[in-house]
Amino acid sequence: MKTTKSYLSKTVEDLKPSGIRRFFDLAASMEGVISLGVGEPDFVTSWSVREAAILSLEEGYTSYTANAGLLELRQEISSYMNRSFNVSYSPNTEIIVTVGASQAIDIALRAIVNPGDEVIVIEPSFVSYVPIVNLAGGTAVTVQTKKENDFKILPSELEQVITKKTKAIMLCSPNNPTGAMLNREELIGIASIAEKHDLLVLSDEIYAELVYDEEYVSFAELKGMRERTILISGFSKGFAMTGWRLGFVCAPEEISQAMLKIHQYTMMCAPTMAQFAALEALRNGREDVNEMRKSYRRRRNYFVQSLNDLGLDCHQPGGAFYAFPSIRRTGLSSEQFAEKLLLKERLAVVPGNVFGESGEGHIRCSYASSMEQLQESINRLKKFLENV
Ligand code: PMP
Repeated sequence: MKTTKSYLSKTVEDLKPSGIRRFFDLAASMEGVISLGVGEPDFVTSWSVREAAILSLEEGYTSYTANAGLLELRQEISSYMNRSFNVSYSPNTEIIVTVGASQAIDIALRAIVNPGDEVIVIEPSFVSYVPIVNLAGGTAVTVQTKKENDFKILPSELEQVITKKTKAIMLCSPNNPTGAMLNREELIGIASIAEKHDLLVLSDEIYAELVYDEEYVSFAELKGMRERTILISGFSKGFAMTGWRLGFVCAPEEISQAMLKIHQYTMMCAPTMAQFAALEALRNGREDVNEMRKSYRRRRNYFVQSLNDLGLDCHQPGGAFYAFPSIRRTGLSSEQFAEKLLLKERLAVVPGNVFGESGEGHIRCSYASSMEQLQESINRLKKFLENV
C-alpha cells in the first residue's frame, strides 16, 4: 500500500491549517486565560428564538425542508433584506438558506469559479476566503489595505491586481479582522471598478447588523450592482446564533439556481429546527438585536480608547466586534506578541499575520466580552507593555 498521505488530494495538502487554531489550543491548555480570540458574540441566543426551535421539535418538524430552505423563512428573509437594507430578492428563486455564511461562501465560489479563474481577496481578511477560493479550484489574488487608510481598500489599489483572469472580488464590510466599514461613497468606488472590468462581487455582509456610526449600505443596493452581486449574510453575528449554523445567500436567479444545484447535492438543506429559530429571530428579534448592538458599541468605545491610551494605536472600527491595534512600537512580530502575552499575562488575542501580509504588526482583539473582562484585559496589556 502507498503511504496514507499519498492518497490525499494535492489541493488539501496545500491548505495551511488556520493560524488561529494554534493559539486556541495553547490557551485551552492553560488556566485563568481571558480570551479575546474568538470571533463570536458573547450573548446567548434570545430565549424566544430558542423556544421557537424547541416548539418546532415538539410539533414534530424533524424532516428535511425544501432544498432552498423553508419558503416561509425565505419570504421573511426577503422582506427583512428589503426593509433593512433596501434590496429586493425573490424568495422563490433568488434566496438560499445555507449552513452558515460559511457554506454560502463555499457554494458561491464553486458556482462561479473555473480552473485558473482569479478571485481577489482584500487583506487583512477573514481566514476562510483564500482556502475556499483554492478549494473551488480558483486562484486567490490578494491585495493589501493600509493602516493609514484605516484598512479601507482604495479603488486604485484594487485595480492594480485585476488581470484578464479576474472573475470576482471578495468584499467584506464591516470587516473581520479590522472592523473597517466602507461608506456609500467608498463602495461606489469599488462598484465602478467592478463595472469597468465586468466583475462579480461576493459581498460578505454577515456583520451588517453590527455597525455603530454610519448608515449601513449593502453593495447590492448600489446602482447597477444587483446583477453583479452575490450577497452573503446570516444569523451568527447580529442575532447571536453561531452554533445554529444558519446563513443565507441572495443572488440573481441564474447564479442562485447554480448554487442551489451544489447545495442540493452536498447539503440537502440547512438544519430544520435552526430554520424555525431564524424565522422567529426575523419576526420578533429586532429589539434584542438593537440592544446587542448598543452594548457592542459601548464596549467598542471603551476598549478602543483604552488601547490608544496604552499607546497601541488603533483606528475606530465602524462595525463588527474587533479592534485591530498596531503593536509595532513593541518591536515584536504579531506572533511573538500574541504568544508572549498569552504565556506571561494569560490574555489570548490573535496575531494579525494570520489574516494576511498587511495584518503583520497588529493583533485582533474581539471586544465581544464582558466589560469586566475587557477592563481586566486592559490591565493585563498594560502590565505586559511595561515589561516588554
Ligand atoms: N464571514 C465572516 C467575515 C466571518 O467573520 C464569519 C465568522 N467568523 C463568517 C463569514 C462565517 O459565519 P457563519 O457562522 O455564518 O458561517
